[in-house]
Amino acid sequence: MKLLIDFGGTHFRYQLIHNNAIIKKETLPSDTISIVDFLEQQLTQHPKITFVGIAFGGQVNDGIILSAPNIAIDKLDIKSYIESKYDVTLEIDNDLKVAALAEMAHIGKDESLILLYMGTGLGSAFVEKGKLIRGKNNLAGEIGHIPYKEAPFQCGCGKYDCLELYCSGSGIQKWIEYHGLRTEPTLQALQNDQNEAAQQILENFHHGVIFATSMLVTLFDPDHLILGGGVFMKNPYLKDIIQKGFLNHALAKSADTTKVTISTYENANLMGAQFLEKHKGNI
Ligand SMILES: [Zn+2]
Repeated sequence: MKLLIDFGGTHFRYQLIHNNAIIKKETLPSDTISIVDFLEQQLTQHPKITFVGIAFGGQVNDGIILSAPNIAIDKLDIKSYIESKYDVTLEIDNDLKVAALAEMAHIGKDESLILLYMGTGLGSAFVEKGKLIRGKNNLAGEIGHIPYKEAPFQCGCGKYDCLELYCSGSGIQKWIEYHGLRTEPTLQALQNDQNEAAQQILENFHHGVIFATSMLVTLFDPDHLILGGGVFMKNPYLKDIIQKGFLNHALAKSADTTKVTISTYENANLMGAQFLEKHKGNI
């Protein structure tokens, strides 16, 4: 039996899999769950679980959670803790890296791809011909925290100028609170709000999306740019904004040959969590 988990800033999703069939799945709000309590409860209830795969919405290296700007965590060395207490293998990795495994399985290992995911936060992952680019600390791709423009409030990482402050679900929420608007923190609600501040938040957001994607395509010259996460999935019009933005902001040849798509997976993080077992050590 396997337990696959997608732990994001807003939602906590899990699947219990037995004989390749999903026997239970559930989505819960992340702020109601302690991941360690949940794991202990599941492993006690289902002693046949032999593998736990976790796609985690924060920074992870070698099974240790480094930080999670959008999630409260209660144990950093979660792999050692659980494996020492239960007869189980646990793999945990950054959710974007995990989603990249799912996308790579779909596209194949002969091409290069960039994932840009936006939900509560903003992140990216790069795969160059079957090889995930990790960096020294498994932190390659943290595009949400590159220096962009000074904001009047702080990012979860501690800085004040992160791209994520302008271009993410949590960033939109922060700007709405800053301006004291009553608008829902969605792009659609901002579009319907005639307030000048709401329109400015939306304009800054679109500019941030164009900046992020034009920079990624110019830097990496990929075969594919795959857009995923709640914000892109709910707002497919962003794909057109990105492609128009390429005309003025990306290197023309790279922009011409990059295929921009919205992820076909409903949840690439959960899909990819199963590959953490198979890919152990060679990605
Ligand atoms: Zn940041």
